[in-house]
Amino acid sequence: MKKQFHFTPGPSELYPSVASHIQTALKSGVCSISHRSSAFKEIYAHTTRMMKQLIGVPEDYTLLYFSSSNEIWERILQDCVSRGSVHYVNGAFSKKFFSFGMELGKNPLEIKKDYGIGFTESDIRTYKQLEMVSITQNESSTGVYTNTDFTKAVKTLNPNVVTAVDAVSSFPYAENHFPETDILYFSVQKCMGLPAGLAVAAVSPHAFQVAQSLEEANKYNTSPYHSLLKMKVMADQHQTAETPNVLGIYLLGKVAEDMLTKGLSQIRLETNQKAAILYQWIKDHPDMEAFVDVKEHASSTVIVAKSKRVEEQVKALLEKGIIVGKGYGKFKDQHLRIANFPAHSKELVYQIVDTLTPVRVI
Ligand SMILES: *Cc1c(COP(=O)(O)O)cnc(C)c1O
Repeated sequence: MKKQFHFTPGPSELYPSVASHIQTALKSGVCSISHRSSAFKEIYAHTTRMMKQLIGVPEDYTLLYFSSSNEIWERILQDCVSRGSVHYVNGAFSKKFFSFGMELGKNPLEIKKDYGIGFTESDIRTYKQLEMVSITQNESSTGVYTNTDFTKAVKTLNPNVVTAVDAVSSFPYAENHFPETDILYFSVQKCMGLPAGLAVAAVSPHAFQVAQSLEEANKYNTSPYHSLLKMKVMADQHQTAETPNVLGIYLLGKVAEDMLTKGLSQIRLETNQKAAILYQWIKDHPDMEAFVDVKEHASSTVIVAKSKRVEEQVKALLEKGIIVGKGYGKFKDQHLRIANFPAHSKELVYQIVDTLTPVRVI
């Protein structure tokens, strides 16, 4: 099969160094070691150290490893919510977290915007009695970005809630505020450019305290498999309860190290440059228009364009070996979604632009 380049918003193109890290892992037996061995504990400690630096999280936060962000949604609701949760919903992913709250009987409150519209501080209320507020930093379904200051404002007005920030398609691009963010989580197959099957949550002491108080009140209805409190006990020993995705944890540590070597400011700069190229091109294109028209809410990592020629454009790119996303759900035939992650080179971004720019007849 010819090499194809994935500009889909996840799974997406692998970070350039992943292939060689997989080779090294195979040679050194990473895929066969016991998860109780000292070799594993060293890998775990390395990944956690690198990730804490990359997130910029305070030392007293604990990093926990899950199978997906869907799993993290379930755990947060089970372990930190008994009276109710608040969900800022403006797309398919934020909606799904809210629907998990419904299914688990957690009395979720939905604060809703039309798809394509972002949240501002005027949408924040005081949420008495409710324990958790969910913020989706980058709605990958619609390309709407919510500024990190929003989380800070939620926390300032509601110091007792657990703020849970979905950074699946914005980490490590967005710079988050701590300790205003209690739980920052993401899956590795989007911005981090890794194979799917692993998700990470950085959890604050406050979030553990909320879980602890629910346990003491016998309202902590967690699953026997993963709970925040039990996972923390294992994490403190650089271990997991189950046999984890050892290769995934290994690769995450290596890629985090590579990103730190490159420098987060460089990664942010390149992301901004590529986003500017794509948005300018969309603006100038006769058949296209940015879906998110308020600049502050237009995502830099998932760029969504309304297009009159989705089918034709997807096909033209495919002929060049480039795969972009179509619209999510009901927008399937109306939008192009182009991921702009650290793994995506500027050269390939230009290739997208060149391939889809109509030739002017003078
Ligand atoms: C992809 C995505 C998820 C779900 O991630 P999984 O790893 O499939 O659980 C959640 N939130 C956002 C914003 C996403 O883009």
